[in-house]
Amino acid sequence: MRGTVLYGPRDVRVEERPDPQIIEPTDAIIRLPVTCVCGSDLWPYRGVDPVTQPTPMGHEYVGIVEEVGSAVRTIKPGQFVVGSFFASDNTCEICQAGYQSSCIHRQPGAPTGAQAQYARIPLADGTLVATPDLPPDDLLPSLLAASDVLGTGWFGAVAAEAGPGKTVAVVGDGAVGLLAVLAAKQLGAERIIAMSRHEPRQQLAREYGATDIVTERGDAGVARIKELTDGLGAHSVVEAVGTQESLMQAIRSTRPGGHVGFVGVLHDVAIPGKEFFFSHVHLHGGPAPVRRFLPELIELICNRKINPGKVFDLELPLEQAAAGYRAMDERRAIKALLRS
Ligand SMILES: [Zn+2]
Repeated sequence: MRGTVLYGPRDVRVEERPDPQIIEPTDAIIRLPVTCVCGSDLWPYRGVDPVTQPTPMGHEYVGIVEEVGSAVRTIKPGQFVVGSFFASDNTCEICQAGYQSSCIHRQPGAPTGAQAQYARIPLADGTLVATPDLPPDDLLPSLLAASDVLGTGWFGAVAAEAGPGKTVAVVGDGAVGLLAVLAAKQLGAERIIAMSRHEPRQQLAREYGATDIVTERGDAGVARIKELTDGLGAHSVVEAVGTQESLMQAIRSTRPGGHVGFVGVLHDVAIPGKEFFFSHVHLHGGPAPVRRFLPELIELICNRKINPGKVFDLELPLEQAAAGYRAMDERRAIKALLRS
């Protein structure tokens, strides 16, 4: 098969790779008609996360089940399935509590790399959710978004306790931030403030339900959120970046008693203890348990109630994956879809 491999900073290649095989009896092999590049792939791409050996890339996937191992019971060849970046048994106590991304049997969701034509998915029965029917082609981008960026934005909004009567602010205008706006709207938030300085992203945020746009960032961004909320701060803030500046912006934009849902992968962040102590802000986040939300998200997408696939503003053949990385790195694209 063809698959994407990262060799070092800014060195992405699509090359011939071994076809994934069933290794464990709980595995499935799926064929990936579409795949994509994630904002978190940019950490190793930029060399922030060191790349010590050639690494198959991609952890967002949807596809057709080709083959299942002997112990797989519910997932069947021919089904169209959606998974996420961690495989989980969906039966342990942690999974049952809704934290499948901390499953006691957690492992990478697509260890062979999902920016490829095929992938091996461990713990298929626990990890994969089948769609009711084979979806039409135009729903594939949205289902692919459910696999990570939508599920992650949704968790951010849930963790921030977005809901009726709440003012929700979203820090970060990447795909996850934009879809946190969509999630906050679906969860019934009254007012949604998107923090973005990029015109096309502001437009999509508005389409997804943002009522206000704040272009300032850092302290000026915090001051603007306070101005918009009678000096109190937002009830709920989603942090979808993962830097020191963005997390502190989120905490400082939240009113006492409010909630921050943090879903940007934190990199070298330190929270000043005394400031946090006196903030009275709840912090909840981490790697999103996308599996918890997949059945609901698939239903919303298949019934065309939401269109998260609009975050894909660049479409390329898989062979041109490197161009997709470049476009996202240079912020020319929100998110690149790759067709194999
Ligand atoms: Zn589990």
